[in-house]
Amino acid sequence: MLPLHTRAKVSGTLPHPVLKVLGLAEALGTAVPRDRVAVHLPTGGPEVDFAALQELGFAALFRPDGGTAAGGTVLPEIHSLSHPEVVGTGDVVRVRQDNGQVGVLYRRGANANTLFLTEQCNSRCLMCSQPPRDEDDLWRVRELLELIPLVDPDLAQLGFTGGEPTLLGPLLPELLRACAAFLPQTGLHILTNGRNFSDPTVADMVGDALGRATWAIPLYADVPARHDYVVQAKGAFEQTVQGVYNLAERGHVIEIRFVVHAQTLPRLREFPEFVWRNMPFVSHVAFMGMEPMGYAKVNRNLLWVDPLDYGHCLSEAAWHLQDRGIPTSIYNVPLCVLPEEAWPLARQSISDWKNTYEPACDGCAVKQSCCGFFASHGPAWRSRGIKPFERMEAAE
Ligand code: SF4
Repeated sequence: MLPLHTRAKVSGTLPHPVLKVLGLAEALGTAVPRDRVAVHLPTGGPEVDFAALQELGFAALFRPDGGTAAGGTVLPEIHSLSHPEVVGTGDVVRVRQDNGQVGVLYRRGANANTLFLTEQCNSRCLMCSQPPRDEDDLWRVRELLELIPLVDPDLAQLGFTGGEPTLLGPLLPELLRACAAFLPQTGLHILTNGRNFSDPTVADMVGDALGRATWAIPLYADVPARHDYVVQAKGAFEQTVQGVYNLAERGHVIEIRFVVHAQTLPRLREFPEFVWRNMPFVSHVAFMGMEPMGYAKVNRNLLWVDPLDYGHCLSEAAWHLQDRGIPTSIYNVPLCVLPEEAWPLARQSISDWKNTYEPACDGCAVKQSCCGFFASHGPAWRSRGIKPFERMEAAE
């Protein structure tokens, strides 16, 4: 697990807080405007003509494990990182001039890169890992519009998350257009509760995503009362289902997400047949273990079920859809708490910056294909089924 934040010392005045970090050779050949590039100069690297770099118009020097350049330079410098391993070449960082905080906004080579659009939401899901805040956070959109042109254009997939992105109104299409302009090869994976798409004019607004985006929409039951309770919003089920239909009618790709916990488990058996009968057009269904963060922690007593106790039901539900031609996955549930018949559907689903394993996992024969745990996982969320597999046992 590699964190997304560290501290640095900053000398001079940065021309911009959001910068792309590139090695010297790549910096000289990049299409990224030079005033947005911090040149990565590791200690022990070749000697560099700092005056020439300044003349070429680079934004800053990035010396993760060193002090300021010998003899000083007129270019601003980001240096002496408390954790130099946090930032690599190709990454895009936000550097706060005032306190030296460095945040990685895009990480080259990560298993998932996600843009956080807004903290606002119109639902209050019992297990929300990112509890909404009703604050004006339009600065995020402005920052994302600065960030998108700095993302590697060969990136296969970029996630959008929140909060509820449709609450941004016309700024959501603006972000979609920026992605189309700067990342034409990149697929988008957009988390939304889908409720606002029940309004056809909102569904019309996101046409720029057509053919490029998958809309990942949570549905927690086959009956309105249960879904509405889980998301703490009356009428949400009707809105989400209508939103799914409105997007589908316009040709969008849709993924359905079902988080498994004590409040959704009572409908897990019926849910797949509902999806198969009513939404056979969806491209993917994901059954997901909970991330123990935010409201999930607060509501633990309401939500916790040991996955060992629902593994067989989960396996049956997932195979019900997979066998009928809807690609289906199980996320965030370790292999040792799943029955083996479910393993072909289990994915390594946790973003690497928050993915961890227990000491018990060391030497486990299936660790390479197991999702492990969220970093926020603790004793209160530990299944009694965690146990490493011996090599022979796993191969059987
Ligand atoms: S012991 Fe660890 S690595 Fe092995 S299956 Fe369980 S959680 Fe996964």
